[in-house]
Amino acid sequence: MRSLPLVITLTCLVLTGCKSDGPLRPDAYGTGAEVETPSDRLTTLNALDARVNAVGFRLSVANAELCPRTGPITGLLLHAESQYADYLREAARENWKLRGDLPGVAAIAPDSPAARAGLRTGDLLLSADGQPFQDGGPVGDAGFDGLSRNLAVLAEALDDGSAELVVERDGQRLTLRLGSVAGCAYPFQLDPSADFYARGDGERVFISSALAALSPLDDDLAVVLGHELAHNILDHRAYFDEVGLARDVLGNWGVAPWELVRAEREADRVGLFLSARAGYDPARAGPYWRMLSGRLPHLRMVQWGHPSAGERIRSLERVAEEIAVLRAAGQPLIP
Ligand SMILES: [Zn+2]
Repeated sequence: MRSLPLVITLTCLVLTGCKSDGPLRPDAYGTGAEVETPSDRLTTLNALDARVNAVGFRLSVANAELCPRTGPITGLLLHAESQYADYLREAARENWKLRGDLPGVAAIAPDSPAARAGLRTGDLLLSADGQPFQDGGPVGDAGFDGLSRNLAVLAEALDDGSAELVVERDGQRLTLRLGSVAGCAYPFQLDPSADFYARGDGERVFISSALAALSPLDDDLAVVLGHELAHNILDHRAYFDEVGLARDVLGNWGVAPWELVRAEREADRVGLFLSARAGYDPARAGPYWRMLSGRLPHLRMVQWGHPSAGERIRSLERVAEEIAVLRAAGQPLIP
């Protein structure tokens, strides 16, 4: 019997389905980021991508038993030359030695099966269980199709829990065995964007690069990503853009605002438990939200569907205390 489909995470840099379809505004990279050249831009986004991948991996593994949808995950974040738009493609090729549609390693979550396999950022995957990946020939318009076909081959090879990979590293070929672990089957992705938002759409969890850059600690990222994972776990399918576009949620789905507020409170509470279960500090939620509401003034107001920042901070602090009490009593952290 086939196991559940492998959850493969791709970088969301410049491709269909993600928000960015052209050169980004400089603030998409975070304030003060050095983004003079295409290579700088990719390096900055890759660092954010790697953090989102690492936090997402930990959240996924620690909360597998709470997720209605699970699958084998590896901690690998993959990308290909062919997904990059023209203005970034040469830099992508130079930074990571990417080639056509071949899957390259963009990031590896610490303590993941990919890390234990000995994979490294910059490795190019050539085959899985003897099935070669296709480079797809000369690269045309930016797209995902060729990489997706290769990832289907990888998923098939990992169907029994592990796969023998041949990778290219510094011109040498190495053979490694990649395993997997059960995790929540909602890939975490970075959306390159100057807007501040995160969303859980029932399938995936997204965070904009501007918001990720404004989240200095992984504990902070875990507050946001845990909240969005909670929306998916709780099946709040009508939730898309969190911070900036809540009115669209109201307009598009016609849900009464009080129901949105209730769902937001529920996602805040469950999300902080998810974050704590993954080993992140729930006491960061208060200071983090305080910082966000100082930097993003519109958060201070009551928005459509969102509790005001002040109320949010107070209730998150109460949840953090509740978690501390459970911990001190040696009780399991079940939201
Ligand atoms: Zn929310």
